[in-house]
Amino acid sequence: MKTIVSIQDISEFDIKPQAEINQWRQIVEKEITQRWKNRSDWIQILCPTCSQNNPVPAFDCYSISYVECSACGSLYAPSRPGEAELWSWYRDSKPSHFWREKMLSASDSARLEKMIRPRANWILDCIAEYNPSARFVIDISPHSRALLDLLVDENPKPLEIIAAGVTADFEGCTMDRIKVQPTLTADLPLLGSADVVIAIDSFNRAADPHILLGAVDKTLAPGGLVFITATVASGFEIQSLWEKSPSIIPPDKLNLPTVEGLKQYFAEPNWEILELSTPGMLDVEMVYRAIQAEPDEHWPRVIRGLVQHADADGRTSLVELLQSQHLTSFARLVIKKKN
Ligand SMILES: [Zn+2]
Repeated sequence: MKTIVSIQDISEFDIKPQAEINQWRQIVEKEITQRWKNRSDWIQILCPTCSQNNPVPAFDCYSISYVECSACGSLYAPSRPGEAELWSWYRDSKPSHFWREKMLSASDSARLEKMIRPRANWILDCIAEYNPSARFVIDISPHSRALLDLLVDENPKPLEIIAAGVTADFEGCTMDRIKVQPTLTADLPLLGSADVVIAIDSFNRAADPHILLGAVDKTLAPGGLVFITATVASGFEIQSLWEKSPSIIPPDKLNLPTVEGLKQYFAEPNWEILELSTPGMLDVEMVYRAIQAEPDEHWPRVIRGLVQHADADGRTSLVELLQSQHLTSFARLVIKKKN
């Protein structure tokens, strides 16, 4: 298993203007309150990675309760809206409109150069190395059309892609080698046997991550690759800030696995993790900012020592150490289906 350090892959959150993020958060909180007063039809799930049912309470975020799995450490909301409710949220809600219309355009060029292009290169390089005969790709990521356009434009070999994400039809139409077809999780295997599944930020927001991963398994051909990025609970920022973490916001982050939980799930003999990296760049910076915002808070002495009392070079070294030990809060994986 390969681990890459000192790389610049960043999450959607990291490149958005702070003022817009703050505004979006307020809209999310209001929408959750108004939209989800009645929760009688919400679904219940077990730990998203290890399936144990032995959680301990963690905290509430915007009136949604999170628990920590006592077996693998994953953070998750055990009670949450089902897939139909989440489809409605991502297609019709005020926060989703705000994200598509204001947030994506506010970061368009930075998003393309800092996030989308490096990801396209990552995916194409891995396909060339691990599954060079791959032709058929199914994408289930949110807001991924710019990535898919790059994959077909910059790949010397012809990929055929189905854009199956929940809002793929809002982001572009069917053309040439990209077929737009938003698809419910249970129907993914009906799209055909895929050589590659791209699931950028999909795991965190899945209504039922077990059903999602089961569908990915059924959809992939033997030897097929799945690309995953996810915010992870085991990272330094979330472990340090916990209920104050700005990374945790429902429903985008209903499932926050740990790196250990992901390794357990994608274990041999059915899977092989080809790459597991935690390229998060901003863990230390986010903790530094949180301490500065609340200097009188009772932060653990070790956190103050590592973050507040270190100089800029020391904080950079800490980021590299965290990346090398899979300890930042943003992970990316390349996984091969073996059987
Ligand atoms: Zn667990």
